[in-house]
Amino acid sequence: MTAANGIRLVLFGPPGAGKGTQAQLLRESLGIEHVSSGDLFRHHLSNGTELGELARGYMNRGELVPDEVTIGMVIDRISDIGDADGFMLDGFPRNTTQAEALEAALGERDQRLDRVVHIQVEDSELIRRLSNRYVCRACQRPFARDPETGVPPAKCVYCPDGGDIYQRDDDTEAAVANRLSIYHQETAPVLEFYRQRGLLADIPGERSIDAVHHSVLRILDTAGAGAVSKS
Ligand code: AMP
Repeated sequence: MTAANGIRLVLFGPPGAGKGTQAQLLRESLGIEHVSSGDLFRHHLSNGTELGELARGYMNRGELVPDEVTIGMVIDRISDIGDADGFMLDGFPRNTTQAEALEAALGERDQRLDRVVHIQVEDSELIRRLSNRYVCRACQRPFARDPETGVPPAKCVYCPDGGDIYQRDDDTEAAVANRLSIYHQETAPVLEFYRQRGLLADIPGERSIDAVHHSVLRILDTAGAGAVSKS
C-alpha cells in the first residue's frame, strides 16, 4: 500500500490512452482524488443540468466544450479538495488556456502541480481501442468486446448491482476521428507548456495495464521530495 502526501498530478494523453484505467489504479494505491472532466460532464448530462445540456452537442461530436464552461467546472471541483488530499486530473487541461487557468488557480492557493504524466499511444492503436470500448454507466470503468464472440459484457463486474455497459456516443468512428484530430491540434501543445516547466514525464502506453501503472508509480516516487511514500 502506498500513501500520497497531497500529490497533485495531471494524467495526460490522447483519448483511449488509458488515463481513466490508470487513474482507478492510482486511486486504489495512492488514495488521491480522481478528477475527470469527462466524468464531470457525463454526470451533468445524466442529471439533465443546464451545463450538461450545453455540453451535450460538443461531446457527441467529439469537440471541446468551451473553456468558459469547462474551466469553472473543474476549478470548482478541485477547490473542494483539501490541501493534504491531493488529486489527479484526467482530461484536463486540454488546451493551453486551460493549462494557464489551472496554474493561476493553484497559484492563488500557493499550490503547484508535482508532475504531468504523459501516456503515449499511436493513433492506430487508439482507434482500435476506442472502437472496441464499452463502459459501465455507473463507475465508468472500460470493458472490451470478448475477442472470440465480439460481444461486450452485459453488466459491470465491479459495481455491486452490476451497472449497465454501454458504448459512449463519442466512441463512434466519426467522433473518434474528430477527437484525435482535436487532440493533435489543440491538446498536444500543452505538452510543451509543461515540458518548459520541467513537469513532464513521458511513458510508453502500449504495454500491459500493470506495466504502465508501475512506470507511473516510479515516476511519482521522484516527483517532489517525498511526494509518495511507501508503507
Ligand atoms: P473524455 O471522457 O475525457 O474523453 O471527455 C469526453 C468529452 O467531454 C470530450 O470529448 C469533450 O467534449 C468533453 N471534455 C472533457 N474534458 C474537456 C476539457 N478539458 N475541455 C473541453 N471539453 C472537455
